[in-house]
Amino acid sequence: MTGELILGIDLGTTHSAVGAVDSGFPILLADRDGRRITPSAVWFGEDGAIEVGRRALRRRSTEPGRVVTSIKRLMGRRYGEELDFCVPMGVSADGRLMVLGRTPEEVSAEILRELKGIAENRLERSVDKAVITVPAYFNDAQRAATKRAGELAGMEVVRILSEPTAAALAYGLDKLGERARVAVYDLGGGTFDLSVLEMQDGVFQVLATRGDTRLGGDDLDLALARHGAARGGVDFDRLSDAAKVRLIEEAERVKRVLSERDTESFLAPFYDGSSSLEIELTRAELESLARPFIARSLNCCRQALADAGCTAAELDAVVLVGGSTRIPAVRHAVAELFGREPDLSQHPDEAVALGATIQAGVLGGTLRKMVLLDVTPLSLGIETFGGLMNVIIPRNTTIPCKAGEMFTNAAAGQSSMRVRVLQGEREMARDNWELGNFEVPFEAAPKGQARVGVQFRIDENGILEVLARDVATGRDTVIEIRDAAVDVDDEEVGKMVGESVEHAFDDMAERIFTEARLKAEELLPAVEQALAAAGDLVSETEREEIVAAAREVRVALEGGLPNPLKAAVQRLDQSTEAFAAALVERAMAEALERRLS
Ligand code: ADP
Ligand code: MG
Repeated sequence: MTGELILGIDLGTTHSAVGAVDSGFPILLADRDGRRITPSAVWFGEDGAIEVGRRALRRRSTEPGRVVTSIKRLMGRRYGEELDFCVPMGVSADGRLMVLGRTPEEVSAEILRELKGIAENRLERSVDKAVITVPAYFNDAQRAATKRAGELAGMEVVRILSEPTAAALAYGLDKLGERARVAVYDLGGGTFDLSVLEMQDGVFQVLATRGDTRLGGDDLDLALARHGAARGGVDFDRLSDAAKVRLIEEAERVKRVLSERDTESFLAPFYDGSSSLEIELTRAELESLARPFIARSLNCCRQALADAGCTAAELDAVVLVGGSTRIPAVRHAVAELFGREPDLSQHPDEAVALGATIQAGVLGGTLRKMVLLDVTPLSLGIETFGGLMNVIIPRNTTIPCKAGEMFTNAAAGQSSMRVRVLQGEREMARDNWELGNFEVPFEAAPKGQARVGVQFRIDENGILEVLARDVATGRDTVIEIRDAAVDVDDEEVGKMVGESVEHAFDDMAERIFTEARLKAEELLPAVEQALAAAGDLVSETEREEIVAAAREVRVALEGGLPNPLKAAVQRLDQSTEAFAAALVERAMAEALERRLS
């Protein structure tokens, strides 16, 4: 598949991940150890060496002052805005916030460079473009700093995408359609946020977002480490930094296991060089430590719902994002607050990166386009005389597309026409679905002489625009029909197509009858009028044949069968041919005479 390769990157506070579209499908890329998630940690050695990810974290217990974690907190920040950080913060000569002699962008760039490397290694080619996600609440300065970090890492950042939007894409919530509202609950390592999104014009808008930038799995690790130490009779606060790091790391491991099992041993041999800890911990203990944190997150949820002006019941979906939502107690609390089971179909800690990858695939044109928007699932047209369906864009037309036709007035002196926009495969308008209708004014004209051009246009987002133009005045009437044109439920499409096949013969018969009836209704009065005025222009045998043909048409109209009516109309048409020509000739001769006299 052609298209441009663009990476999708979740640059998280505690963990990051990278993905790309491969053979038309979005996937996350694993490092050499087979891991798809990389800790957002950077070690800066004294000699200038740099290590990122798990290797950087491993240095934390021996060189805590040289390992930078949670750099995302400092992105786009000025000195003094953040008070608490893992290493000392300083200011550069030109007033920029610095850690270990680097700006936050430079530190983030190291993480991005690592992710780029993982991708290039997996894909066996170089890549220099990316979509990077940021929290919905990031301001311009924070977004700009993220973009700069990408550039420092040697990539063009083609889009900065909101994390909840990315998550919604990963869960396929874009298929819920216009006006769908969804909540994204994201509990990661160091931050929590809840965003309420609404689909508008095919893209998600953030209606409200509330969070706590100091709430996440890290808090739980610390609480569990303290709890473990206390149960072992150790005063956590008196321990060295290195010993604290060891206990916190073990707490994190135990916490993860307790999402799967009811008990796990907390093991910290020689954590301070001489003493060791070994304690059995239970999920119930962890849950009671987690309770206050979960309660804080639920408060944010209530506020966000209030900000968005909607109730939990009005949401179309709730999804969980962030590694900490793997904790069963978190899932239960969210399910209870929102009154529904959250969608668990994606890995919560991979959803944001996956969504960024989908967005990158759409921008780069490498993703298989959602079939849903590819073609018109059903024919689109308008109702014409006699209640017939007049197809303008046939079923299975690739979008975007455009097509039109000319229509005329059915009655003399008529000065407007109702355009009913229809969708479906049936011959009669009434059996199809009406998507909308509008009145088109035009200049009154004799029957069949007004000209109204109707044009259908479907853009790449599946929005149908119907334009009707009065050719005489050039005046346009336009309506827009959103989504319904292409976004039809598969089941409904199947039903419509099935019915059209089932009724094919009846439908066709009705169309033939209707078309013949319209012709007959036009012909009969015209013939009668002409015969009355014909005088000797028409021979007696001709007159008899015309009267007989007209009678046959009336009988066939009564009979209601399509083929006899069609045949009778044809006979009447033919029988009047010579007569009509003679009428025209006489009219011309009379006109000529008038002009000569
Ligand atoms: P970020 O904050 O960077 O977006 P993630 O979404 O990757 O981070 O979440 C990381 C957090 O998820 C960490 O605190 C980690 O301990 C926690 N976590 C990951 N897996 C589990 C699990 N199985 N059970 C409990 N917590 C988990
Ligand atoms: Mg995250």
